[in-house]
Amino acid sequence: MADKKQLIVLGAGPGGYAAAFYAADIGMDVTLIDPESNPGGVCLYRGCIPSKALLHIAKVINESEEAVSWGVKFSKPDIDIDKIREWKENVVKKLTGGLGQLSKQRKINYIQGRGSFESSNKLKVEKNDGSAESLSFENIIVATGSHPTRIPSLSIESDRFIYSSGALELKDIPRTMLVIGGGYIGLELGTVYAALGTKVSMVEMMPGLLPGADRDLVAVLSKRADKIFESIYLNTTAKKIEETQNGLKVTFEGKDIRESEQVFEKVLMAVGRRPDTKNFGLENTKVQLNDKGFIKVDPKRRTDDPGIYAIGDVAGEPMLAHKASHEGRVAVEAINGQKAAFDPRAIPAVVFTDPEIAWCGLTESEAKEKGIEYQVAKFPWGASGRATTLGRNDGVTKLLIDPKTERILGVGIAGPGAGELIAEGVLAIEMAAKVEDLSLTIHPHPTLSETIMASADVFFGTATDIYRPRRK
Ligand SMILES: Cc1cc2nc3c(=O)[nH]c(=O)nc-3n(C[C@H](O)[C@H](O)[C@H](O)COP(=O)(O)OP(=O)(O)OC[C@H]3O[C@@H](n4cnc5c(N)ncnc54)[C@H](O)[C@@H]3O)c2cc1C
Repeated sequence: MADKKQLIVLGAGPGGYAAAFYAADIGMDVTLIDPESNPGGVCLYRGCIPSKALLHIAKVINESEEAVSWGVKFSKPDIDIDKIREWKENVVKKLTGGLGQLSKQRKINYIQGRGSFESSNKLKVEKNDGSAESLSFENIIVATGSHPTRIPSLSIESDRFIYSSGALELKDIPRTMLVIGGGYIGLELGTVYAALGTKVSMVEMMPGLLPGADRDLVAVLSKRADKIFESIYLNTTAKKIEETQNGLKVTFEGKDIRESEQVFEKVLMAVGRRPDTKNFGLENTKVQLNDKGFIKVDPKRRTDDPGIYAIGDVAGEPMLAHKASHEGRVAVEAINGQKAAFDPRAIPAVVFTDPEIAWCGLTESEAKEKGIEYQVAKFPWGASGRATTLGRNDGVTKLLIDPKTERILGVGIAGPGAGELIAEGVLAIEMAAKVEDLSLTIHPHPTLSETIMASADVFFGTATDIYRPRRK
């Protein structure tokens, strides 16, 4: 007879391990199941962390090239691909190993294997060692994550055709690469390869990069991306990919494309991600999917089957690690009988390119679409002392403000460090701060954080470093 586990967490990504750790901390008996030897999921093994380790290297290379204009000339970097790969793998090992230790310290029953539902309260676990076990449960949190979207008509069997995980393996530095998809994953990985010496081209079917982000923020990135990338084809679709002796021949369709057939040494497909809802027996439960293919959940992250909860990428957008971890906490509190709901005012989004782009809360695109009234207060980094010392006057910080209450509705930042700066915006929105609160908060000088305070001053027409007419 299988023993009854108080809580099972299926999938040990940032959603799953955060939920499992929190549940153990508040006294639950927890079993955490994942095929990897340690917790971490896509984020730590094949996503956020390895990509940021490589982007850091790209940043160092790009900055060393820029230093010429400040009177410091470095010789051309000598790229040791094996050492770079080793550095990235050590970062992943350090963090996932640390999570393994933390899991043990919390006395979590970590099972290396795959779970699949036999019924609404029974899970079969096929372990990596070849054995299998059937576990009953009172509650389970499904945190199985997501995988890259495949376009069947473009997917070909070839070592030259890769997804984000293949790109992060960094097997080699191809001479040329086409990135299909101008979203954040394509842009980040394209930035890495471009810095390492690959001639990177990008194709995006929409009229601009990062569809969904505000255009004024994207404009800052686009200017630089035009320099970093060999070509960016907008309003263009990749229609066909064929293997040839010299590489992958891609056929493009779009009115602006000059050469409709081009050959690339590698093609990276980065056109989005799909929730992982198949092949683990969800059909043996009462769990329902929504029209976008995510598991349907309520604010407590309960599915349609009592006792089964879902969090993270599998449970809806935005597919981001910090959203997954927060949902993990909510689900555990709900299971624990506490008052809990996933109800954030702002979830930050960061694109770790050069420059970084970050936003939270309301975007202008969304406000226009939904007819929400707003006012914009924008501070160009051309007037920021700190940005000038960095040689990076191209950035911008903007606030979206409710004209009636003067509360901050949204914050958008483009420029180096935007990903760190956006946290202040998230706090402002969550605390229902008014624009005056940001204006009256003393920010350290000289820092880029001052641009948030200065944007608030722009709203009142009292910014010290630029002139904007005073608000009546
Ligand atoms: C290249 C790349 C870069 C990214 N960069 C960022 C970033 O900078 N910031 C950010 O916030 N997000 C980033 N993301 C997204 C982020 O990785 C995901 O949002 C996050 O990992 C989702 O966490 P999760 O817990 O839902 O699932 P995942 O991290 O996807 O983990 C799910 C785990 O469940 C396991 N699993 C699946 N099925 C089963 C089963 N049946 N039994 C047992 N285990 C199972 C999987 O093997 C996996 O280990 C990036 C993603 C990619 C691909």
